[in-house]
Amino acid sequence: MNHSAIEQLYTQVLARNAGEPEFHQAVHEVFDSLGRVFTKHPEYGEASILERICEPERQLIFRVPWTDDNGRVQIDRGFRVQFNSALGPYKGGLRFHPTVTLGTVKFLGFEQIFKNALTGLPIGGGKGGSDFDPKGKSDAEIMRFCQSFMTEAHRHIGEHTDVPAGDIGVGRREIGYLFGQYKRLTNRYESGVLTGKGITWGGSLVRTEATGYGAVFFASHLLETRGRSFDGARVAVSGSGNVAIYAIEKAQQLGATVVSASDSTGAIFDPEGIDLDLLKDLKEVRRERIEAYVAERGGNAEFRAGASAFALAAERGGVDVALPCATQNELGEADALALVKAGIVAVAEGANMPTTPEGIRVFKDANVLFGPGKAANAGGVATSALEMQQNASRDSWSFEYTEERLAAIMRDIHDVSAATAEEYGAPGDYVVGANIAGFTRVADAMLALGVI
Ligand code: GLU
Repeated sequence: MNHSAIEQLYTQVLARNAGEPEFHQAVHEVFDSLGRVFTKHPEYGEASILERICEPERQLIFRVPWTDDNGRVQIDRGFRVQFNSALGPYKGGLRFHPTVTLGTVKFLGFEQIFKNALTGLPIGGGKGGSDFDPKGKSDAEIMRFCQSFMTEAHRHIGEHTDVPAGDIGVGRREIGYLFGQYKRLTNRYESGVLTGKGITWGGSLVRTEATGYGAVFFASHLLETRGRSFDGARVAVSGSGNVAIYAIEKAQQLGATVVSASDSTGAIFDPEGIDLDLLKDLKEVRRERIEAYVAERGGNAEFRAGASAFALAAERGGVDVALPCATQNELGEADALALVKAGIVAVAEGANMPTTPEGIRVFKDANVLFGPGKAANAGGVATSALEMQQNASRDSWSFEYTEERLAAIMRDIHDVSAATAEEYGAPGDYVVGANIAGFTRVADAMLALGVI
C-alpha cells in the first residue's frame, strides 16, 4: 500500500462516515503514521488490514427511556461501538455527555484499539456512551438512567465479549448502578463484565488513580530522555475530573508544583501550587464549579471565566510540563504557542485527543516532547485489564503491587513507542511510534485469525 493508496482509502473512510469530524481526525492521524509500515509489511496491504480496522465490527445505537423525578419520560440515545476484537474482548469506557454522537464514540473506539494494543494486555477496542447529561440530575435519576441503559446493553456485553468502564460522566457511582442492573438481569455475579468497580464488589485498587498516575509516569519517562524530572518542575494541568485530580496528585508526589486546573466554566491559577484536598472536596464530594476554589483557598489564587488553563498558566510564568486532562481538541495552536513561549519541555495527554493537529505541529516544530493520549493515558485501561485479571482469579492485589504493575506497563509503552519511532525513521516522534506499535500488534493478530 503506497502513499496514494492510503490517501484514497482515507477519502473512502470520509465518504462512508460523513459528518463525523472527530473520527476523521483520529483516522487521519493514524494514517499519517502508517505509510512507512506498508513498505516494510506488504502483507498488511494484501489482506486489507487497514480497510478492516476502520470499519467497526459492530455498532449499536439504542433508545434509553427513563423517568425523571417529576414523573416525565425522558429519551436519550445509547451507543456501543465494538470496534476490534483481534486481541481480546472489546474494552473501553462509556461517556455520558450531551455532545456525544456516534462520531464521538467512533473516534474514541478507534483510538482505543491502538491504545489497548500498546498495553500488551489481551484487550480489543470498543467504546460507548450516551448524549444523556448527568449535570444537575438527582442520584435517583442517574440510577434509573443507568438501569435503562443496561437493560439494552446487557444483551451485547459480557466478560468474554465486551467489557465497558467509565469515561467522562461515568464514575464509580454509575458503574455501580450499571453492574447492579446487569447482575439482576442475568442472575450472574460476573465481576469481569465491567471495570472501575468499587473495591468491596470486585474493583481494583489503583484503578481510580490509574489514568492520571499513568500519564505522569509517561511524562516522567519523556523528561528522563532530556535529563529532566518532575522534581522542581512547574506543571500546567487542565481539567478537574478523575484524570486531572490524580495526575496532580502524582506530579506533586514527585516534587512538582502544579499551578493550574480547569472545568467547563474556566480555569484557576495558583502560584503556590494547587491545594489538592480542597480541589478533591470541591469536585469529588461537593460537585461544585471550580471558581469556588479561589474564595476558599485565598492567597494569590485566581479564576478566569472561559479561559484555558494553559493560556493562563503560560501568561503567569514558566511552564515545564503540560498535562491536558479535560477533553478532545482543548489545546489548540494559540495555547501551544503560548506554552512554547513559556519554555515547555514535555506534553503528555491525559485526555483522549486533547491537542489539535495544529497544536501538535507547533510542539513538533519547537522540538517539545509530545506523548499522545493513546500512549500517555493508557494507564486507565491497562489497570482495567488488571482488574479483569483479579476478577478472573477471584483475587485482589495490594495497592503497592498494582501500582508497580501500572508503572511497569507505562515504562513499556514509553519504550516500545520510542523504539518503534526509531526503527521506522522518526526518532523522538511518539505519535508515529505509538501508532505503528499499536497498529502492528493488531494487524499481526488479524492476519493470524484470517479474513473475519
Ligand atoms: N475511558 C478510559 C479510556 O479512555 C478507560 C477505559 C477502560 O478502562 O476500559 O481509556
